[in-house]
Amino acid sequence: MNAPFKILSKDKNSQARTGILYTKHGAVHTPVFMPVATQACVKALTDEDLKNAGAECLLSNTYHLYLRPTTKLLQQMGGLHQFMHWNGSILTDSGGFQVYSLPKFRKIKEEGVTFQSHHDGSKHLFTPENVIQFESEIGSDIWTMLDVCIHAKDPSKHDAREALNITKRWAERAARAYEKTVPVQHITQNSDGSFSVKNSLLFGIIQGAIFPDLRKEAALHMAGLPTHGYCIGGLSLGETLDQMKAAVSAVTENLPEGKPRYFMGLGTPVEMLNAVERGVDMFDCVWPTRVARNGMVMTSTGRVNIKNAEYRTQDIPLDSECDCFTCRTYSRAYLCHLFRAQELTSHRLLSIHNIRFLIRLMERAREAISAGTFLSFKEDVIKKYLGK
Ligand SMILES: [Zn+2]
Repeated sequence: MNAPFKILSKDKNSQARTGILYTKHGAVHTPVFMPVATQACVKALTDEDLKNAGAECLLSNTYHLYLRPTTKLLQQMGGLHQFMHWNGSILTDSGGFQVYSLPKFRKIKEEGVTFQSHHDGSKHLFTPENVIQFESEIGSDIWTMLDVCIHAKDPSKHDAREALNITKRWAERAARAYEKTVPVQHITQNSDGSFSVKNSLLFGIIQGAIFPDLRKEAALHMAGLPTHGYCIGGLSLGETLDQMKAAVSAVTENLPEGKPRYFMGLGTPVEMLNAVERGVDMFDCVWPTRVARNGMVMTSTGRVNIKNAEYRTQDIPLDSECDCFTCRTYSRAYLCHLFRAQELTSHRLLSIHNIRFLIRLMERAREAISAGTFLSFKEDVIKKYLGK
């Protein structure tokens, strides 16, 4: 199965590349950061804020949407795009990670995973097949397969092996369910190399915890299945940077070049640039908006906690290099005041900045890859960010 993915440039000194992923809602330029709209909303932001920040693709959570407002309701409303008034692309995760986060309330069987709702304790079953059906009801552009996620910090190899074995069998079932749901010939390549995509795409999830040999095995297995792209799941969960780098390399080195790779749940600048260097194309994370609501922002010279007293009198932007609405309009002093006065507008303004910071970081990474200067770009950004 070919992916509607056009590689535009490749770095000579690393595996970094730039490209365009085509979906039924347009083009997504990679490497890309995707803001997370957990419950059909990026917390505190509107679709206009997200467009102005340069977002091309959002991530939403099948688990949350299934429980509330329910995927059936979304289908009645014409799908998630129409419901939340977003006409860019949307990727949905499969619920595997959310269910993993409820260890007391989940039970994994061959058929699927049973879990209890975090709202009312009601019992539910996710299977590889019904998750594809739920994503179809949501109407997202990119669907992911149900997987078994385990903790990456000190996992036992036995547990990682068991989780991988089930994930592989579920992936085969999800691929068959996709083929029954989506007509085969919905992607056509145009004469300029771009693609027209009429239906949703399918991404497989690669597990294997921190073990490079399991990661390699998972990548080779997924490469043999009919999917349009690959998710790297189960990382950024407490492992060291070196363990993360080794796991990512073991995956990307064993995947076909012509399909996009998406690192699930990663949204910190240093780690993202290290993953781009290893050939990762897509990222998402709730972290930038979650910490913004606690007053923490990323700037080109490192993290700033806007509630600190030193910012009360600073009549300068959060980050003088940032082009976001917040930095173009307001001073640190004003934002510090809003946060200390518990004004909700501070959540919006700081979230806009953090989202734009990561989107712009990926835009600059794309420019550097195209210019053949990615590794020096990466080194400069990280040095400045970490204050070294
Ligand atoms: Zn800004």
